[in-house]
Amino acid sequence: MKILLVEDEHISRQMVKKILLKAGHEVVEAEDGQAAWELFQREPFQFVITDWMMPRLDGPSLVQHIRSSDQKSYTYIVLLTAMDDKDNVVSGLESGADEYLTKPFNNKELIARVASGIRILNLEEQLIQARQQMEQLALHDGLTGLLNRRAIEEYAEAEFDQTSRKKRPLSVVLLDVDHFKSVNDKYGHKFGDHTLRRVAQLLTGDLRKYDRVGRWGGEEFILILPETQLQDAIMVAERLRSRIADMKLSLENGKQFSVQISLGVACTTGEFPSLQKLIDAADQAMYRAKQTGRNRVCSSESAH
Ligand SMILES: [Mg+2]
Repeated sequence: MKILLVEDEHISRQMVKKILLKAGHEVVEAEDGQAAWELFQREPFQFVITDWMMPRLDGPSLVQHIRSSDQKSYTYIVLLTAMDDKDNVVSGLESGADEYLTKPFNNKELIARVASGIRILNLEEQLIQARQQMEQLALHDGLTGLLNRRAIEEYAEAEFDQTSRKKRPLSVVLLDVDHFKSVNDKYGHKFGDHTLRRVAQLLTGDLRKYDRVGRWGGEEFILILPETQLQDAIMVAERLRSRIADMKLSLENGKQFSVQISLGVACTTGEFPSLQKLIDAADQAMYRAKQTGRNRVCSSESAH
């Protein structure tokens, strides 16, 4: 573990440093709280051992600085103190330190405190990872890995607000796999799922930075294209249509099949007052694409 060691007394600092190095830790030294704070701002440390009484900035003040800084990961802080009356210890912990050690302490005690601090940091890391996994699960569709309906709706809502404030265009493409039920019926659900995953992959293939694609439901997908005029969105939709029609899916027996999609496009330049109206317009256009023969793109401005 890389430890920031803050201690104004040189001899004492070297002694602690030696113990930490011997236990296999990496040590960065600071001669007082101020020097430590400057180091910390340049490079946050996960572990800090700091003396209490120091010129310029004392231990508890350094702890407060670190705690009020906007860092991503937690810093475990051990406060070293020569004062062993309980009131001081309490105020040290209240400043935000995790643990304290009263001087003089023995080597084993120091190493044991560092080890327990590292265990806590590891637990903290596991919790963060678990939370990220939960968030990932809450926002993504399990089958395709795309944003799920709730997540893509939230993104679309935010983009709709932002683009309408700036009076910029926002396009929506809704698409549906043609005759998907017959894929499931003919080849089984396993290949149905496989088909949806391949379609999802292809859809994410050439998105720009702010474009998003989500699974809207069953075999329906949605693309949110900020800063995109209707004509450009139609081109994107047409490119996706032809790529999916060209995509070869293989069955277990080596035989190949392909699927086609119908797409509906709408853009905010059609003066849609809400995201719902915009999506409804894309939905109606998609419905027209289905009605007029499938494997095609219709837009909210074509054929009313
Ligand atoms: Mg001191």
